[in-house]
Parts: sequence; C-alpha cells; structure tokens
Amino acid sequence: MKHYDYVIVGSGLFAGVFAWHAKKAGKTCLVIEKRSHMGGNIYCEDVEGIHVHKYGAHIFHTSSRRVWSFVNSLVEFNRYTNSPIANYHGEIYNMPFNMNTFSKMWGISTPDQAKAIIEEQRGQITHEPENLEEQAISLVGRDIYEKLIKGYTEKQWGRSCRELPAFIIKRLPVRYTYDNNYFNDLFQGIPIGGYNKIIDALFEGCDVILNTDFNENREKYMAMGDKLLYTGTLDSFYDYRYGHLEYRSLRFESELLDTDNYQGVAVVNYTDRETPYTRVIEHKHFEYGTSPKTVITREYPVTWEEGMEPYYPVNDKKNQEMFEKYHALADQEEKVVFGGRLAEYKYYDMDKVIESAFKLVDATFNS
Ligand code: FAD
Ligand code: UDP
Repeated sequence: MKHYDYVIVGSGLFAGVFAWHAKKAGKTCLVIEKRSHMGGNIYCEDVEGIHVHKYGAHIFHTSSRRVWSFVNSLVEFNRYTNSPIANYHGEIYNMPFNMNTFSKMWGISTPDQAKAIIEEQRGQITHEPENLEEQAISLVGRDIYEKLIKGYTEKQWGRSCRELPAFIIKRLPVRYTYDNNYFNDLFQGIPIGGYNKIIDALFEGCDVILNTDFNENREKYMAMGDKLLYTGTLDSFYDYRYGHLEYRSLRFESELLDTDNYQGVAVVNYTDRETPYTRVIEHKHFEYGTSPKTVITREYPVTWEEGMEPYYPVNDKKNQEMFEKYHALADQEEKVVFGGRLAEYKYYDMDKVIESAFKLVDATFNS
C-alpha cells in the first residue's frame, strides 16, 4: 500500500489550498472525500453549458491581496459584482441597505432624510445591541427590519431574531450612497470557466478516493500517511462524545427553464415569512451567459439532522461551548491538524477559508 506524507480528509477550498502548497514543497497527498465529486461547497455542475452552483450561490470577494493574487494564479476572474434584489410580497428593493433601498421604502432622496428616519425608528435602542433584532433595528430602523430582515432571517435560521447573535447581520453593508454592491471588499468576481477550474488546479497531482467517509474507517486511512489534515466536522471526528454541534442545512431545488432570462439578476431574496424559500438563483447571470435556456435554483432552509449536509454553524453560546470542548481535544493531537468551515465551526467566506489555510501552510512549509 502506498504511503503518503499527508492524508487529507475533504476536498474543499481549505484542503485544496493546503494540498497545493504541500505538493509545491515536494510532498505527496491522498485526498479522501465522502461526496461523489471534489470541491466541497464551491463545486459546480454543468447543465446546458451553464455552471450551476450546486451548493448555493458563491461569489468570490476579498480585500486580501495575497488571497486575490493566489486565486488569480489559478484562474482568471470576471467582473461580476453582486447586486441582489429583495422581493417582499412583490415589492422590489435593492440590497444591501443603501440609498436605493431607503428611497424606495420611504420616498425620500437624500442621506440626511434617510438618517433622520432611521434615527427616529431606532429610538428605544440606545444600548449595545444584544441580539440580531436589536442590531438590525439600530442599523436600519424598524421598517426595513420588518420587511427585509425579520422574515428572511427567521426562515434562514429557524429561530427568532431575538435569539440570534448580532454579528450575523453585521455582515451586510449599510450605506448612505446609491451603491448596490453587496460587498465592501476591494476585489470581487466569478472564475471564468467556473469554480471547478480552481478545484482542478488545487488538487492536481493528488491521489483521490471519492464516495468514502473517513470516519467509517479512521485507523486504516490514518495509517496511510505521516500526517492527517481533517476538514470535516469536529464532533464527528470525536464520535460526538460531548454531543452534536448544531448546524443549519439547506435544500436546493433546481429547474431548467425554456427562457433566456427568468429574473434579470443572479440572486433574488424572498424576504417575507410566507414564501418557503429564501432565495432564487439564476446561475447564468454570474457569467453573463447567453444560452437560450436558463437554470434557476430555489434555496430552502432546513433544520439539520444527522446525515444532512451541515452548511451553517449555529454559533450560539451553547454550541460554542461544546465546540470549545472538542477544540481542546483537537489541540492535543500530534499527528492531526484541523481546518476549514466545518472543523473550525466558523461562518467563513471563501477568502477567509483561504486565509486560514495560509496560516497552516506558513506554519508548516514556510517556517
Ligand atoms: P467545504 O467546502 O465544506 O469542504 C469540506 C469537504 O469535506 C466537503 O467536500 C465534505 O464532503 C468533505 N468531508 C467532510 N467530512 C468528511 C468525512 N468524514 N470524510 C470525507 N470527506 C468529508 N463564501 C463566499 O466567499 N462567497 C459566497 O457567496 C458564499 N456563499 C455561500 C453560500 C452557501 C449556501 C454556503 C453554505 C456557503 C457559502 N460560502 C460563500 C462559504 C463557502 O462555501 C466556504 O467558505 C468554503 O467553501 C468552505 O470551504 P471548506 O474547505 O472549509 O469546506
Ligand atoms: N439577511 C436578511 N435579508 C436579506 C439578506 C440577508 O435579513 O435579504 C440577513 C440574514 O440574517 C442572513 C444575514 O443577513 O443570515 C447574512 O446574509 P448573507 O447574504 O451574508 O448570508 P449567506 O450568503 O452567508 O447565506
């Protein structure tokens, strides 16, 4: 049996960035992936020439020059700028919260008018916000909270905005300019030719075993390498000895439609409570596609149960405390290192996952 320098569990971005640097340092890698394909959540499926983001819309954005130049060394990026639309019972608003949103909501036109309304609506919240509802109202006022945040957030997270941490909503920019760019980062785009090009480049030269859950045969795979990188969930690595960490899951329903343009934009958020899905993605718009057909995907939030894909960590107090206990075990491992959105139990974007992998790479190969 071949012996490797590294056995790598998972084939997402974290694993890929590590594998790329390991190979550059002359190391051999075996990748074990439980899905039937490589790439983790950035994997795309080709349908009629359209790259379908199989695990939800992925827009690359970063302010890190190191991350941007690394990904551009693997693939070229287009000029896509994310400017989603919010649909509240048929009323259309621009996202993120900016002068276009305020103008449509209140019929006003200047930043001072918008600030005065928000100031009045946040009235009662003068202390440091303690939960998502307070944070949202203090940022954008009650009207926007009720129409564009409350329903979407409670669908997405399956709990009241009063029980959710404030940081979730702080991800979104609030701007007093007419600027619909969803992100504040310096760099943004979609890989030309799709995300799979990144995956192919990152794992080139690795041996790969697909359709295999590492945790079902841990000893066997551990014995195949000097060291192990594990990018799955930490609780599963330790057989759930302190309990199950909670996640939110998603269900994606895709349809191929016989029209060239279904919604005129890549992402529409449905922010009312009644529509069961949170967003509809029209994939071709990420790459300015010109095919006569289109593929749309509805994204339904789902309460996670064992066996489902764990998409979003629920970073509340209870889960965070459980995670710290697992983390203490992980810290004691000599042969195993951990990383990525799952193993770190963090709501990371792609660039942050790459930065986290760079830290491990620097400590392992560049010190
Ligand atoms: P993953 O991509 O989850 O990879 C982990 C891999 O390990 C998976 O392939 C999994 O199957 C495998 N695995 C797990 N356990 C085992 C096991 N026991 N045995 C074998 N294999 C195993 N980021 C952005 O920057 N922009 C966006 O627009 C954006 N949109 C997103 C939308 C959604 C719906 C979601 C869920 C995430 C989004 N992200 C976005 C975040 C982005 O997907 C992640 O930051 C990134 O893909 C995480 O990479 P990773 O390698 O840490 O984990
Ligand atoms: N959000 C919202 N309304 C929207 C879009 C987002 O209230 O139309 C809130 C919601 O709580 C969500 C958070 O903002 O969880 C972060 O949104 P983002 O688009 O960054 O989430 P992701 O793309 O990671 O699912």
